[in-house]
Amino acid sequence: MKLYEFQGKKLFAEFGIPIPKGSVIAKTEKVSQQAPCVLKAQVMTGGRGKAGGIILCKTAGEVEAGIEKIFSMTLKGESVPAILAEQLVEIEREFYVSIAFDGESKTPLFIASAAGGMEIEHVAEAEPEKILKLPFDAVYGPKQYELRKIADFLGVRDKKELIALLEKLYRLWKSSSAILVEINPLVQTPNGLIALDAKIELDDDGAFRKGYVPQFDQGDVVHDTITYVQLDGDIGFISDGAGTGMLTLDLVSDMGGKCATFCELGGITNADIAYESLDRVISKNPHVKSVLIVLIGGFNRMDEMAEGIVRYYKEKNPKMPLVVRLCGTMEDEGKRIMADAGLKIYNDLIDAIRDAVGVN
Ligand code: GDP
Ligand code: MN
Repeated sequence: MKLYEFQGKKLFAEFGIPIPKGSVIAKTEKVSQQAPCVLKAQVMTGGRGKAGGIILCKTAGEVEAGIEKIFSMTLKGESVPAILAEQLVEIEREFYVSIAFDGESKTPLFIASAAGGMEIEHVAEAEPEKILKLPFDAVYGPKQYELRKIADFLGVRDKKELIALLEKLYRLWKSSSAILVEINPLVQTPNGLIALDAKIELDDDGAFRKGYVPQFDQGDVVHDTITYVQLDGDIGFISDGAGTGMLTLDLVSDMGGKCATFCELGGITNADIAYESLDRVISKNPHVKSVLIVLIGGFNRMDEMAEGIVRYYKEKNPKMPLVVRLCGTMEDEGKRIMADAGLKIYNDLIDAIRDAVGVN
């Protein structure tokens, strides 16, 4: 299962890998995106830069025209369900780094090149000496001296910074059962290293073994960015990030509970999406006995999420308990909205999970 760039970047952010500030624009949305920015077509095929799927915009007019243009194009036969709009970054150098599997030796490898931004297959063919392949131990992870070798090979300005970033990439690869995690380009900017692109492919079998399959349904992205997967437990579970979602699923199962859903809100969230996700989780599941919502506000505003949750609660009056743990951006406002509606507030994730598991 491949992830879209914006989904991959959300995972990057959750693991502490720097990404440009940005937001996702769905096809149906009316947007006021600020200029200057870069508009990036969200499709699975690579080489979008060359194919015209990436547009740098200086003015508001260019942004408007760019959005229309990208939504009307097809890239290698794929239509564009969403656009990622990001703040421009000043690029000094472009690198390539990835973690992939070597089929022959059956070990994971770091692959790195200072010829970033180009398709790595072309570099491998024309100038193989520009690519470093470094196998590492899948269980114990890469050693410091191995990561230093990569930093030396790339000739980055700040080796410690790169090593720390590669460690985070390894942690992401390890905890998400990824087959491939690729940053091309990883860019050097005056403010440090930033992942300008994200390509992640997850191992379906690996995810399945852990008891969940976070399918990022392509059809879903056309309408919104909610990922919805039916599971066989009785806790209706909603999170606003894939990493948070996976962690919470593990904690729920550690405490003896089972989730009825894996519902992840993706790149865009607002009150309507919070409302819609609750509607889906509750209406599709006669077995749901409690609802657990775990939110970490980064781009997402907790006041907006609380507003959507409260609106659903007041309109539909669900009979099962709603357990909501929210934190981050506009947390205090969100909690006030919840409290005003008479909903219980949780500060601690473990307390929240215990209550959601305990009622069943
Ligand atoms: P891909 O062609 O599908 O791999 O898309 P990428 O996300 O890798 O972008 C391709 C190229 O667009 C990059 O290598 C950059 O040169 C350029 N690009 C993307 N974002 C920015 C940006 O914020 N600023 C500048 N100056 N260039 C960008
Ligand atoms: Mn790229």
